[in-house]
Amino acid sequence: MPSPHLTSKLPDVGTSIFSVMSQLAQETGAINLAQGFPDYDPPRPLLEALARHVLTPGHQQYAPMPGLPRLRDAIAAKTARLYGYQPDPTTEITVTNGATEALYAVLAAVVRPGEEVLILEPAYDLYGPAVRLQGGVPVYVPLSRPDFRPDWDRVAAALTPRTRLVLLNSPHNPTGAVLTPADLDTLAGLLRDTDTLLLSDEVYEHMVFDGAQHQSVTGHPELRERAFVLSSFGKTYHATGWKVGYCVAPPALSAELRRVHQFVTFSVSTPTQHALADVLPDADLYDALPAFYQQKRDLFRELLAPTDFGLLPVPGGYFQVADFRAVAPGLDDVTFARQLTRDTGVAVVPLSAFYHDGQDHQLVRFCFAKQEATLRAAADRLRG
Ligand code: PMP
Ligand code: GLN
Repeated sequence: MPSPHLTSKLPDVGTSIFSVMSQLAQETGAINLAQGFPDYDPPRPLLEALARHVLTPGHQQYAPMPGLPRLRDAIAAKTARLYGYQPDPTTEITVTNGATEALYAVLAAVVRPGEEVLILEPAYDLYGPAVRLQGGVPVYVPLSRPDFRPDWDRVAAALTPRTRLVLLNSPHNPTGAVLTPADLDTLAGLLRDTDTLLLSDEVYEHMVFDGAQHQSVTGHPELRERAFVLSSFGKTYHATGWKVGYCVAPPALSAELRRVHQFVTFSVSTPTQHALADVLPDADLYDALPAFYQQKRDLFRELLAPTDFGLLPVPGGYFQVADFRAVAPGLDDVTFARQLTRDTGVAVVPLSAFYHDGQDHQLVRFCFAKQEATLRAAADRLRG
């Protein structure tokens, strides 16, 4: 029987670099500093809450489509506490299967064929393909070197009447760059009097260092009127495998997101939402995160200081980007990442994976969301 002919909708897209490098790490026994996930467990009260709710009769069936009311109430209170704006839990908060589903559902909800979506590069790997699956046109604007901050003149020049959406990510994956209040004001000026929407990926909101504050778009009265703002409990609670996130957006935008969300997944795991609703009011858990991650960042940088890696500044997030030109002159980043994994036993992600055209700047990304012993073991190998 001849097999049916199928033309791929994403012919140029292979398996995600995070899966590829994690698999290579597993095959070779390398320490996995590639894919971004912690090697320590969520807070004990959260695990105990999940165990409790899994055993609670009545907590095993579908949750309400937009999310459990008690979890949305807790998200509203947390947003008000941190960013000075209390979203209406009924109309402005939607619980999603991770930020991943929220990103996809927002793009599917608002981007029509031929419309443009502005993406600052380097960028998280799903943005471009998810735009293209809607028939949208990703318009890539490079972040400025050396600090990977937005060049607003270039953003302004890339905006057109066809720009449906601007995608922001702060703290930024992979570079850790964080936006300032002035950045948000400038963007607000650029979008004023347009119909362009904003999608703000803030999954690393609790990882901002050196006394700086996360500038959430939810805290910006003008921008939030046109914005979908995303967060991820996977990052906040060291539980990337739980796949729960949420989106804060004005009622009309949330309504469009929900039209899609209800048909992509309908709802999110019920006992998991109950467990998150139990712990979210405990602000100490997330207030501790900047210091917790800053200590890991500082330790990892200190451990790598004797090596020839050029360590870029890390104002936020949980990744260290490093220039390897002095370690392996002339090597491309994919080859270097594979060699480092196979020969040195430390898996990393090549930064070219974050560029739509595979640009190679001879940079790799290390994830430092690891136990001290893991970071020390990796550093021993890297110094060897
Ligand atoms: N956006 C960025 C920038 C990320 O780094 C990640 C995850 N690693 C996601 C979105 C996806 O978040 P989640 O795991 O909640 O789906
Ligand atoms: N966001 C994680 C990273 O950047 C990976 C998530 C995934 O594997 N899809 O490493």
